[in-house]
Amino acid sequence: QVNTMNGNGINNLKPKSSSIAESVQRARDTFNRGVTRPIKWRLQQLNNLLRMYEENRNAMIEALQKDLRRSKMEAVLLEVDYLINDLKSTIHHLEDWAKPEKPEKGFVNMLDEVVIYNDPYGVALVIGAWNYPLQLLLLPVSGAISAGNTVILKPSELSVACANFVAETLPKYLDNDAVIVIEGGPQETTELLKQKFDYIFFTGGTSIGKIIYEAAVKNLTPVTLELGGKSPVYIDNTVDMVVTAKRILWGKFINAGQTCIAPDYVLCTREVQDKFVAAAKKILKEWYGSDAQKSPDLGRIINGRHFNRLQAIVDASKDKIVIGGSYDANDKFIEPTILTDVTATDKIMQDEIFGPLLPIVPIENAFEAIQFINEREKPLVLYVFSTSKKVLSSIVDNTSSGGMCVNDTMMHMGVETLPFGGVGASGIGAYHGKKTFDTFTHKKSCLIKNFSPIGEKLASGRYPPYTDSNINF
Ligand code: NAD
Repeated sequence: QVNTMNGNGINNLKPKSSSIAESVQRARDTFNRGVTRPIKWRLQQLNNLLRMYEENRNAMIEALQKDLRRSKMEAVLLEVDYLINDLKSTIHHLEDWAKPEKPEKGFVNMLDEVVIYNDPYGVALVIGAWNYPLQLLLLPVSGAISAGNTVILKPSELSVACANFVAETLPKYLDNDAVIVIEGGPQETTELLKQKFDYIFFTGGTSIGKIIYEAAVKNLTPVTLELGGKSPVYIDNTVDMVVTAKRILWGKFINAGQTCIAPDYVLCTREVQDKFVAAAKKILKEWYGSDAQKSPDLGRIINGRHFNRLQAIVDASKDKIVIGGSYDANDKFIEPTILTDVTATDKIMQDEIFGPLLPIVPIENAFEAIQFINEREKPLVLYVFSTSKKVLSSIVDNTSSGGMCVNDTMMHMGVETLPFGGVGASGIGAYHGKKTFDTFTHKKSCLIKNFSPIGEKLASGRYPPYTDSNINF
C-alpha cells in the first residue's frame, strides 16, 4: 500500500490496517513460494536496484535537497554513491557469500559432511530514520534481498521527499510481491509491528528502539537496532590541532549535525580547549564565510520540532557560546556553534544533541575522560585524537562503545570490512559489507552422515547396553 503525504509529513491517505496485514501476507506468500531464494533472482533484483540508483541520481539528490537542504557533495558522498558502491560490492561477492560454508571438523566426523547453510530468515521489516533517509533505509533493504528474504520497508515520515521518492520509484524496479514499501509514521509502524516478521532492522532513537524490541519479543523475532546517543571525542595535547579541528568540525557540521555518529561533545584540558577554539574560528570562517547562513554547504534542521529543541539548548547556553549561536526559525537554520567550559549538568549534556552545536567539557587527563565516558550510556562511537600509543591503549582497554575511530571522525563508516553498530543503549547488532548479508542470514548448521560401515563401527559405542570401557574418567 503506497499512500501520499502532504508537505508537513502528515498522511492524506492512511493505509487501512488490513492493507498492512495484506502486504505482509503477500511478502510471506512470495517467500513461501521460494521466489527469493535462487541467487539468480537475488542478483537480478540487486542489479535492478543498481539501475534505479544510476538512473535516478538527480532525483535522489533533489529529494535530499528538499528534505534537508543537503549539498550535492554530501548527498553524493554519503547516500547516492555510498549506496551504489555497497551494492556493486554485494553483487560482486554474493555467490561467494551465499555458498554453504564448510567449517573445520574433528576426527570423529572425518567421513561426514559438516556444513553451514546460509539461509534467509523469511520476511524482513526495515524501518528507516530521516537523517540519511536513503542510505539508512536502502542499504539494509539490499542486504535483506541479497540474503534471499522478502522485505517490507518503511521510510521515515519526516523526510517526506525521500519517502515519496522511494515509494514511487522502488516499485518500478523491484518485484512488487517481494519488496513492499509502506509509508507512514508511528501509527502505521505500530500496526506493522503487530504483524509477524522473521527479522526486524530498525534505525532510529533509543526510546523508539525499545518499543521495537518489545514488539519483536512477542514472536521472538531477531532484531538489529541501530540507535544513537552521545558519541564523545577525547583530544590530548599530542595532536596536530588544525587537522584535528578540521576532522572534528567536518564530522559535526555535516548534515547540520544530524548524524548518528556526529561527535556529540569534546573532552579535553582547558589548554587544548583554547587551541581547538582558536583553530575552529579560522576553519569555520574559511569553510562557511562570515555569514554561514548564506553558505550553500550547510544543511538545515529537518523540521520545526527539532529546530525548537535545538533553539532551546542555544538559549539556555548563551553564556558558554564562543563561536556561532545565531539561528533563524523561518529558514530552520542554526549556525555552527561551539560552547566552552560546559559541565555535565548543563542542558546540552542531557541528551543526544543531533544538531550543529559542539560543547567542550574540560577535564584534566585521559583517566578522567575514561571515567566520564564510563559513567554514561555506551556510545555508538568513541573518537580519540592522540598520537600516544599509551593513551590509545588505555582508552581501548577501559571503555565500551559500538566502534572507535582514532584521529578522524565518521570515516570508519566507509570501511566495508568494519561492521558498524552499537552496544548497550547505542544498539544491538551490526551491518556493512559482508556483515549486512550475514545479518539477514540464519546460519543453519547441518551434519550429514553416511551409511559407511566403518563410520558406523567407529561410532557404535554410543548404543546401549552401555559399558564403562567407552568412557574415560
Ligand atoms: P526515531 O526513533 O524518531 O524514528 C525512527 C523510525 O521510527 C521512523 O521510521 C518513525 O516513523 C518510527 N517511529 C517513530 N515513533 C514511533 C512509535 N511510537 N512507534 C513505532 N515507530 C515509531 O528516529 P529519528 O528521529 O528518525 O532518527 C534520529 C535517531 O536515530 C537519533 O537518535 C540517531 O542517533 C539515530 N540514528 C542511528 C543510526 C545508526 O546507524 N545507529 C543512524 C541514524 C540515526
